[in-house]
Amino acid sequence: MRKVAALPRLFGAAGALLAGHTAAGLQVWMLDAPHLYARKGGGPYLDGDGHDWPDNHLRFGALSWVGAQIAMGRLGGWQPDVVHLHDWQAALTAGYLHFDPAPGARPATLLTIHNLAFQGLFGAGMLPALGLPAGALDVDGMEYWGNLSFLKAGVQWADHLSTVSPTYAREIRTVEHGMGFDGLLRARPDGLTGIVNGIDDAVWNPATDPALVAQYSVRRLHAKATNKAALQAELQLEARPGAPLFCVVSRLSTQKGLDLLLAALPRLLARGAQLAVLGTGERALEDGLRRAAHDHPGDVAVTIGYDEPLSHRMQGGADAILVPSRFEPCGLTQLYGLRYGTLPVVARVGGLADTVIDANEAALRDGVATGFQFSPVVADALAVAVERACDLFADPLAWQRVVKRAMTRDVGWSVAAGAYRDLYDRLPTPAPPGFT
Ligand code: ADP
Repeated sequence: MRKVAALPRLFGAAGALLAGHTAAGLQVWMLDAPHLYARKGGGPYLDGDGHDWPDNHLRFGALSWVGAQIAMGRLGGWQPDVVHLHDWQAALTAGYLHFDPAPGARPATLLTIHNLAFQGLFGAGMLPALGLPAGALDVDGMEYWGNLSFLKAGVQWADHLSTVSPTYAREIRTVEHGMGFDGLLRARPDGLTGIVNGIDDAVWNPATDPALVAQYSVRRLHAKATNKAALQAELQLEARPGAPLFCVVSRLSTQKGLDLLLAALPRLLARGAQLAVLGTGERALEDGLRRAAHDHPGDVAVTIGYDEPLSHRMQGGADAILVPSRFEPCGLTQLYGLRYGTLPVVARVGGLADTVIDANEAALRDGVATGFQFSPVVADALAVAVERACDLFADPLAWQRVVKRAMTRDVGWSVAAGAYRDLYDRLPTPAPPGFT
């Protein structure tokens, strides 16, 4: 690895930007600052107890500062045409660029918001440690109810904003879903674009997936039943091939609406259906789900934990996947469900609304249905959608037609990649230096 530049003292002990690694033909630069990033336990954002790392402002401030230097062409003798920032962790790059003292052309910036619930909030007193001027702490800057918000810096100063589905782009401009940012977003009427995420359709391919006991495709659909039998056996569910098997793979948080699923569970079970849940998160939800499994052995199986191979086996073996989210910027598990012919039953919000076509009478007749939607996001409406899924499941030919349609939808990255390329081409020209 070659050292491109040193991290300034502002961000603590020594750190450096390294080059020399390539991935998929692209040069990757790495910010090597062990005092900020080499942590035992926990994850990139949270410590082992689920709390934010106390120096997250410096950890992501440093990352954002380096982003701004790269944007200005100061590192490695190369300047990008477009700088694409993701979420609050990178959003401060737009702030560093806004306050950059030196003249020089800067590239256009795009901030993608993946989930508005995460806003990068820190005490106002941390501003000097980030090397930003006092003027940044302004209602027209990154001040947010007396705090600093890294996300707000991006929303204020990036040249354009995007989020991960057209419906979520509309929703976050409303008071109901705007999480306090709706006014700021409404102030940029043409400044926010929604582009649905793709999935890695090589990793998520039922025809080649090594996690499945039997690979299958639209033409070899009968093999899906083998995965269902294996999943029932693995999770100690009763071996009932004729029972609709619903699954959930999710963070267990209020966002994901799994309390609604617990409330709707009696009606799911009354239809002779089964439920398999894989997830980890909030204690109350974990406990509620564990209790449901305990009360309904053979019909409800709950695995608390994070287990990628099992998530593949659940997508491969279940008949349907439930995503009852209260809000969902894009959602990935319903896309995996489409690819695996595991029909999504989803709340009509955000990316879920944009990626699943409800199996209503007209859609069934026209052969375009790919799953089930419900609204409003309440337990009763979820139960009705589950019952509709059970009704369709009772007609194997009709069910299979929807499964085949779902599996042939293109959910890979190519559509999104084309949309991002077009957006990059349309980005506004950045304001000249010194212009505020
Ligand atoms: P979010 O990013 O809000 O958690 P998404 O649906 O966009 O929700 O993405 C969640 C991703 O995490 C999916 O790839 C899903 O399969 C995976 N996932 C969530 N929980 C688990 C789990 N307990 N075990 C394995 N994979 C999980």
